[in-house]
Amino acid sequence: MATNRTFTMIKPDAVANGHTGAILNDIIAGGFKIVAMKYIQLSETNAGNFYAVHKERPFYGELVNFMTSGPIVAAILEKENAVEAFRTLIGATDPAKADEGTIRNKYAKSIEANAIHGSDSDENAEIEGNFFFSQFERF
Ligand code: ADP
Ligand code: MG
Repeated sequence: MATNRTFTMIKPDAVANGHTGAILNDIIAGGFKIVAMKYIQLSETNAGNFYAVHKERPFYGELVNFMTSGPIVAAILEKENAVEAFRTLIGATDPAKADEGTIRNKYAKSIEANAIHGSDSDENAEIEGNFFFSQFERF
């Protein structure tokens, strides 16, 4: 995957609260092109593997429960400097600290149920995109 791509998930809280369309609008208005997308529910195993890097953190078990609690929208996005640009668009992990107008500022309820995921590096963007999508599911 090229370095102008990132990976995102609209998390179960935002999907359940009806924010999927508004969030996709914000992503597109932010200049991102959707090059892969699917609507799925994660199994405990899949969510545990996706967040394995956080295994030792105290919130890991709750995070896996939350991420398996309902459907999500997973997508690969393309834009110049995608990883950093997308982290700017979504805002800080804790919505109370997220800048005005960011996706987490507008749609997130708590530090855990924070509406959306964005990869934190080009390397992880590629790993995460490959976790969800085959070569036949991306454009
Ligand atoms: P980000 O998603 O901004 O990269 P992290 O990688 O640090 O944040 O954490 C992964 C996810 O774990 C967060 O998006 C959030 O859903 C959850 N999380 C992070 N910190 C906490 C916390 N202190 N308590 C509960 N959940 C948390
Ligand atoms: Mg992270």
